[in-house]
Amino acid sequence: MSTVNGLPISISGITKRYGDLYALDNIDLEIKQGEFLTLLGPSGSGKTTLLMALAGFTRPDHGSIKFGDEEIILKAPHQRGVGMMFQNYALFPHMNVEQNISYPLRLRKVNKTEILERVNQALATVQLTGFGDRGIDQLSGGQRQRVALARAIVFGPRILLMDEPLSALDKNLREKMQIELRHLHEELGMTTVYVTHDQREALTMSDRIVVINNGKLMQCATPRNLYDYPANKFVAEFIGESAFLKVDHQGDDIYFNGQKLLVETPPKGQKDLLLMIRPERLMVMVDGQDSENMNIFNVTVSEIVYQGETKIIYVILDDGTSISMRLSTRSGQPQNEIDEGDKIKLVLHKSDTTIVEDGGY
Ligand code: ADP
Ligand code: MG
Repeated sequence: MSTVNGLPISISGITKRYGDLYALDNIDLEIKQGEFLTLLGPSGSGKTTLLMALAGFTRPDHGSIKFGDEEIILKAPHQRGVGMMFQNYALFPHMNVEQNISYPLRLRKVNKTEILERVNQALATVQLTGFGDRGIDQLSGGQRQRVALARAIVFGPRILLMDEPLSALDKNLREKMQIELRHLHEELGMTTVYVTHDQREALTMSDRIVVINNGKLMQCATPRNLYDYPANKFVAEFIGESAFLKVDHQGDDIYFNGQKLLVETPPKGQKDLLLMIRPERLMVMVDGQDSENMNIFNVTVSEIVYQGETKIIYVILDDGTSISMRLSTRSGQPQNEIDEGDKIKLVLHKSDTTIVEDGGY
């Protein structure tokens, strides 16, 4: 059971312009109490601007931000009671670990006994008990991030804001810290808004992910729904790999190259539609296979690339487009029999046959 201790956040109509540029364009977002929500988007999409608006370092031109029932848009950063762990919000190099962590408490004029108690508790939470006397230059990159985290949570904030806190760490340590941050979130229950441009990090850590592009909110969904049902081509391309095939639609019926497709829920409206194919969702059809709920595609194998745990098979569809499939290299699979040049049939389950709107850029 995880703790829920955070405040809900209600963002409505937030706009921030720099000259002609909309860094944030009319953002509406409800963040649930105790939720781990990630802002995901390419560089320059507005993630930091939105986090800074929550922290109080950026004043939006329009809109409202509530923490719980309280409007905080006019409040100074130190009045908002949020914990912060930012890329450029470094530790103080001339203070030791304990002095760094106690800083927010000293600012708040907490008494000495309580400071000691809280600092020790924070050190234990980030697994650095006994490190209080260390200098910052005596710590590894991962330990520094833990100290920064301890400093962010030491005063018991109900909202924690983190801007790419792991981006300076190497891959292994980053993956370990992702899991640690996730566990810490479950333990402390703060409403957490996390910024990253790394889609895998977002999928690993989040209850929900908000995809932003050009200051606009593209989609807000659970990791699984975002991956399986992206709102548009931009989101689909940003999260995971996929090929896009132009389809025609007549009412709710969707056609690829004259072939009617079985689809779960086609999008409504008159927009240009695309069939999104994730490489790992395609399968090789075998003789006698039950094809109910399956879309079948005739293809020619053009190239096979072995990559260890998986292999990528490039195939050419009837209309000449090339797509790829990613398949297991486990023994006894139908794909192990395939050679370059073979004509084969691929199957794609109806519920993996996702139609997305073109656009989102
Ligand atoms: P992200 O964090 O997603 O990389 P930012 O929120 O930092 O993006 O920036 C969003 C956009 O706003 C970018 O185009 C950036 O150049 C612009 N921007 C951010 N801060 C300022 C500023 N102080 N003055 C002018 N433009 C800014
Ligand atoms: Mg940023």
